[in-house]
Amino acid sequence: MQTIDQFKFAGKKAFVRVDFNVPVDEQFNITDDTRIRAALPTLKKILADGGSLIIGSHMGRPKKNPDPKFSLKVIVDHVSELLGVPVQFAPDCQKADAQVAALKPGEALLLENLRFYAEEEGKPRGLADDATDEEKAAAKKVVKESQKAFTAKLASYADCYVNDAFGTAHRAHASTALIAKNFDEQNKMFGYLMEKEVKAVEQVMGHTVRPFTAIMGGSKVSTKIDIIENLLSKVDNLIIAGGMTYTFTKALGGKIGTSICEDDKLDLALELLKKAKAKNVNIVLAVDAKIADTFSNDAKTAIVDVNEIPDDMMGMDIGPKTEKLFADVIKSSKTILWNGPTGVFEFENFSHGSQAVGEAIVEATKAGAYSLVGGGDSVACVNKFGLAQGVSYVSTGGGALLEAIEGRVLPGIEAIRGF
Ligand code: AMP
Repeated sequence: MQTIDQFKFAGKKAFVRVDFNVPVDEQFNITDDTRIRAALPTLKKILADGGSLIIGSHMGRPKKNPDPKFSLKVIVDHVSELLGVPVQFAPDCQKADAQVAALKPGEALLLENLRFYAEEEGKPRGLADDATDEEKAAAKKVVKESQKAFTAKLASYADCYVNDAFGTAHRAHASTALIAKNFDEQNKMFGYLMEKEVKAVEQVMGHTVRPFTAIMGGSKVSTKIDIIENLLSKVDNLIIAGGMTYTFTKALGGKIGTSICEDDKLDLALELLKKAKAKNVNIVLAVDAKIADTFSNDAKTAIVDVNEIPDDMMGMDIGPKTEKLFADVIKSSKTILWNGPTGVFEFENFSHGSQAVGEAIVEATKAGAYSLVGGGDSVACVNKFGLAQGVSYVSTGGGALLEAIEGRVLPGIEAIRGF
């Protein structure tokens, strides 16, 4: 497989798919530029080698072309500043031939939001709410057909294709996956960020050093079923935390008061426990809880046995005994995956459990374990507690990381390396 370090970019034009889907405020100021910074090593490397950049990204969910609320024009100055060269802007990603032709080595061109065109996602637009199945199928056929020309146009701008957008690697879109078919093996590759993400997932899910412990937190079992199912074939220990604790506790006959619970998932919880036993996976459930009388930071609190939550109280975080139980398992592990907080970490008074888990992971990492943190709120957690530097890798991809952990093949990765 071609790599960004081996490829000779001098005199070449590179189409680089990045994830510049940054949040902006009402005045269109960027409120968090992490995603832009994450792509800089790849972009700078290509420029430094004497290549030129055609940068493609999406932003938000535009519904028409153009959709000024989602224009990438608002980030041009900031990208220029970070990249250290003036970035040119192509206001229509399908009409950039002249600008591309004029690009010289060391220069960069940012294309307007690729999702202004329905062909990027390959989903039809403007269908009436009452459209029949036939009408939907016909509209889909039309957009799929024009998707080929759309993709070929993007590919025609460049000599090589670099995918550095791990955040959209789980989407089979024109610029994230389909475009790769227009380049031969030698001319397509991952960017540095993508390389790092793929390596981190492989380290955890592929070349696992045991014992392997996964900590699954968050609010609901229903959103994590596929992940838990897949992890049961991989892990030695599965720590179940966060809101889903109470679905398991109730299924096992405990009293959970007004805690968050999915009553239609009680059987599923028991089934997962049965499967875990059959696979010799050690499921670690909370033994105590920090409870509250209302869902607020200032609520009246108490620490109780997780099976004995009073009728008018709810579990908001793990208790001290559980913190120790989880920490002991984590510290005896050689591979660790953390997704989802142990409690309502957004409230200071219910963040202690998540912090304790994060600190145990940092300690295990110091002692030689490999730790991967990712998927939504767990990233916010490690950042909030200043622990990001102490874990092996913090993933930038929410949905993409979760799908990788579910064991799915990600189209953006497959399009380049074939699996
Ligand atoms: P998820 O997006 O599924 O990873 O869930 C993250 C959310 O779960 C966070 O916003 C937490 O506040 C929430 N959460 C964690 N524990 C609980 C709990 N015991 N009760 C209610 N929400 C919780």
